[in-house]
Amino acid sequence: MNIKKFTGKINKIIDLSETAKEIHISLSEPIDFLSGSFVNLFLGINGEKTRRAYSISSSSSLHDEITLSIRLSPTGTVTPLFWNKNMIDETVELMGPLGLNTVDKMKHNKVYLFAFGVGSGVVKSVADYFANIKKVESLVIITGSRSEDEILYKEYFNDLAKNFENISVMHVVSQLREGSTVPKGYIQDHLDGFDFNNSDVYVCGQEKACDQLVEKVKSTNPEDCIFFIEAFH
Ligand SMILES: Cc1cc2nc3c(=O)[nH]c(=O)nc-3n(C[C@H](O)[C@H](O)[C@H](O)COP(=O)(O)OP(=O)(O)OC[C@H]3O[C@@H](n4cnc5c(N)ncnc54)[C@H](O)[C@@H]3O)c2cc1C
Repeated sequence: MNIKKFTGKINKIIDLSETAKEIHISLSEPIDFLSGSFVNLFLGINGEKTRRAYSISSSSSLHDEITLSIRLSPTGTVTPLFWNKNMIDETVELMGPLGLNTVDKMKHNKVYLFAFGVGSGVVKSVADYFANIKKVESLVIITGSRSEDEILYKEYFNDLAKNFENISVMHVVSQLREGSTVPKGYIQDHLDGFDFNNSDVYVCGQEKACDQLVEKVKSTNPEDCIFFIEAFH
């Protein structure tokens, strides 16, 4: 994939939850990217060009517009802008596509996609690829969220499981409402029964969560299990 510098205009912002938003950016020129890629986003803040990396959450079959799914860092520099300022029609500079954990490297017929928090965004793009572009024998998607309200793209993932026999989806939540029947805890608490031999395991989210999950999978001593770890700080 050619890494390019281009511009984009923010044309829509959707609230995914109280702390997450989906930013739609129409591009000055079409781009080709592989699911799993990220872009560098440059914003002028107080006269300084500020750069942050964001994974692309839209389908790789769309070339004129991308979406980025972002989580609010309340004391951060960039993300609070999307909560505190009207960013619609703002022009941004972008560079990409970038990243090593892209779907072209995932060669197995059995794929696991594990998403912690806002990691669900890029997992949505990767899941779209394995559902609609390259079919695999088995695709298991598990999201891990703090609360039920924070399960991002729940309907999208549940629809995939409904529409494709080879796709299964589970949402795990660490802080549950009383009486809820949703699986409780972290993703790594719900891996019994899965066979990780001969599989690709894609993990995205906070570094600590990713590390603990990968350790848990490794403890089952899987053969020919390849990890793709997109950890945010
Ligand atoms: C490859 C990649 C892909 C990514 N994809 C996504 C994505 O899809 N979605 C997403 O939401 N994020 C993603 N990120 C993270 C993203 O790039 C930003 O780091 C994040 O949005 C926070 O940016 P910010 O400017 O709001 O916060 P920042 O200003 O970067 O601050 C982040 C936190 O660090 C603290 N901090 C800042 N400076 C200091 C300091 N000097 N000492 C101590 N603490 C400090 C802040 O208080 C805040 O809590 C990705 C990162 C990488 C590397």
